[in-house]
Amino acid sequence: MRILIVGAGIGGMTLAALLDRRDVATRLVERAPNFNHAGYMLGLWSLGSRVLHGLSLYERFATECIEGKHYEVRDNHGELVKHWSMAPIVERFGPVLSCTRPQLVKLLYDGLGDTEIRFNTEIEALEQDGDEVEVTFSDGSRETFDLVVGADGLHSRVRSLIFGEQPYFHTGWGGWVWWADLTSVTPETFVEHWGVGRFVGAYPTSHGTGIFAGAPCKGDFDQPGKGRRQRVRDRFAGMGRFVDTFLDAMPHDDAELFFWNLSDVRSAEWTRGRVVLLGDAAAGFLPTAGIGASMAMESAAVLADELSRTNARFVERALSLYVKRRRSRVESIQDDSRRLARTMFVKSSTVAHIRDLATKFYSLERLAGSIAKAFDEPI
Ligand SMILES: Cc1cc2nc3c(=O)[nH]c(=O)nc-3n(C[C@H](O)[C@H](O)[C@H](O)COP(=O)(O)OP(=O)(O)OC[C@H]3O[C@@H](n4cnc5c(N)ncnc54)[C@H](O)[C@@H]3O)c2cc1C
Repeated sequence: MRILIVGAGIGGMTLAALLDRRDVATRLVERAPNFNHAGYMLGLWSLGSRVLHGLSLYERFATECIEGKHYEVRDNHGELVKHWSMAPIVERFGPVLSCTRPQLVKLLYDGLGDTEIRFNTEIEALEQDGDEVEVTFSDGSRETFDLVVGADGLHSRVRSLIFGEQPYFHTGWGGWVWWADLTSVTPETFVEHWGVGRFVGAYPTSHGTGIFAGAPCKGDFDQPGKGRRQRVRDRFAGMGRFVDTFLDAMPHDDAELFFWNLSDVRSAEWTRGRVVLLGDAAAGFLPTAGIGASMAMESAAVLADELSRTNARFVERALSLYVKRRRSRVESIQDDSRRLARTMFVKSSTVAHIRDLATKFYSLERLAGSIAKAFDEPI
């Protein structure tokens, strides 16, 4: 089969590496010029990391990561609301491993064998004709494939070319991300401050701690350009000693702060003819549950499984089985990450007060909802 994967991110690279192990060749195109972007932090639940066993990459990955052993929620002024040990989940299902996105992407790259990646390349058009898909690339060249996989993330071009605009879920919030050398400040602990109209999380990795400082996208909060460093400082002042330390560790160069809008998307369809969506392109994830990368990797494993049991003639059947195996699991976990966003991103002080009181009585399993159940379900 001639397979094109659009997007060399978490899902696309996992799929290419798994298919390579089964002697199914793929080609990848990637919009970015290389993998050197500073990226953001990723907590990988065992749902996703166990896929790396099938690539013989798990042990190396586990050595390169920090294991998240604790999860702590603090309030608007930094007081501890709740501390959870990850042990009950870790002992049954495996560790939560914390890394940077580039770390995982580069690891998957090493698992790709001879697979070709064309960087700096996008797709301009897709045309399905009978059993083939003709692809026009951004450099004007054209090629024909038996299957095109849209693994091009939240704002997928493949999705919009095939299915048109799909409904986004906008939280109305966004946040600045920066890196700081603070792993000893919150060792092996994910610390989140669920404030009033503001949120600050710190996620240690072996390459430093990733800080996310979020708030409603109003006024000049999300504006790039000079001065954003000071605006962030003002906005998150008075959230306690941890946040003060994170703010002090902000890079001096404004350009090293990156802004992310907190939105996701759910595509009404995942496949049409010989084009299929994978990962965030099919159902995007808010970072609230730290689960989008795991879902993309699981989906890649299922798609590789179905593709390894078919040939070019019956590829549409395999795609339909892939969607049947994945869709409801992915969407119920996506619902949970939206529910968590409503809990974490609160503007009213009364609602925040009630939330903080209720959180004290939550188990980690209850907070995680269907994510916790997903550990015990086959994929
Ligand atoms: C700040 C932040 C924190 C997060 N934290 C976590 C976490 O802790 N745990 C977790 O599991 N998930 C987390 N996520 C979500 C997770 O990163 C995504 O769900 C996951 O990366 C989805 O994988 P993907 O392969 O679908 O997309 P991506 O990994 O985004 O890959 C898509 C790739 O396609 C490329 N591309 C885009 N458009 C085109 C185009 N037109 N042509 C060619 N290539 C294209 C992109 O450059 C990219 O390389 C976080 C996300 C953010 C923004």
